[in-house]
Amino acid sequence: MQTPEAIKTARRAIEICKACRYCDGYCIVFEAMELRRGCTAADIGYLANLCHNCRNCYYACQYAPPHEFAINLPKSFSEIRMDTYRRYAWPHPPDIIFRRNGVAVATFTALAIAITVTLTLMLRSPSGYFKPHLDQAGFYAIVPWKIMVSVAGAAIGMSLVSLTVSLRRFWRDMGGGRIFNDRVIRVLSTVIYDVLSLRNMGGGEGHGCNDRDESFSRARRYCHHATFYGFMLCSASTIVASVYDHVLNWRAPYPLLSIPVVLGTGGGLCFIVGAAGFGLIKLTGDPSPVSRSMLGSDYAMLGLLLVLAGSGLAVLALRDTAGMSILLAIHLGIVLSFFLLLPYSKLVHGIYRTAALLRAAMEREASK
Ligand code: SF4
Ligand code: SF4
Repeated sequence: MQTPEAIKTARRAIEICKACRYCDGYCIVFEAMELRRGCTAADIGYLANLCHNCRNCYYACQYAPPHEFAINLPKSFSEIRMDTYRRYAWPHPPDIIFRRNGVAVATFTALAIAITVTLTLMLRSPSGYFKPHLDQAGFYAIVPWKIMVSVAGAAIGMSLVSLTVSLRRFWRDMGGGRIFNDRVIRVLSTVIYDVLSLRNMGGGEGHGCNDRDESFSRARRYCHHATFYGFMLCSASTIVASVYDHVLNWRAPYPLLSIPVVLGTGGGLCFIVGAAGFGLIKLTGDPSPVSRSMLGSDYAMLGLLLVLAGSGLAVLALRDTAGMSILLAIHLGIVLSFFLLLPYSKLVHGIYRTAALLRAAMEREASK
């Protein structure tokens, strides 16, 4: 969690970097540092969220530990980022949600699963629950369509409102201003490219991150891509399935080679590869440039992604068996938990980093 001490440490490091300038050109953070004269807590929060944690500056720094200056920008920034997630979260949760994020995510997900399994068991008799559902009713024989859409819609809606309020607060602290103006429009394509390509996750020359030591690796970037695009494929699968069902009147479950199933399977596999790869990088990486306060939320996020994708693929693989009902209930519990926890998990970093990238591009444009 951010403390006056964490702010003080980050400020001191930034001031030394501004004088040293050895890492100019390493990443967008050093460029943004030069464009901001001040070094307020809000400036530091902005720079911290711009940092992609590639660790290039840590391994390049002549003032990194054991030097007495002990400059460790990635670690300082990861502590400040964690506080951003807590400080701007709305509705504001008890601090323990972020302080013990791993435990909170695991407990909430287990509760959500217990609730969905209990409710679906109440909707069907045990004899109707534990049997294959090969008829047209399919998944909706277990959870009626109206209930599924209402609950999922409410969870996604709450999550979107919460993220919007948080983002607004962060934007205001970074410098405010209208989101839609000429400058934003001029830089928008660059920002979209930065987000989709993760260009900044590879240092100035694009060699990659220093996950374990001085050697460069693009594994983190690829894992991030697999997770992000896996999520996009799963979302596309849900949208296509909704069109099939509600526009074309084609009821689920769909054949293995249908568009929703192919997109969902591809997305689920990408999710698993990305999350497992991230887990491996974290387990084998050098822990020095990371704040310990981030570890719980990192593992919680990866665990949630893995069970989300794994349960979705299990529903798909076993949909013609008597186990489909319980697997579907478990999967829906995890989906519910995923969306309700989104504003309070590490996954929220996506919106803050995108906003920081947009702000950086606007300030760069203004400085020309
Ligand atoms: S990280 Fe170290 S080497 Fe790089 S600019 Fe800062 S003080 Fe200089
Ligand atoms: S860790 Fe990477 S992205 Fe973060 S400040 Fe250092 S060089 Fe820039």
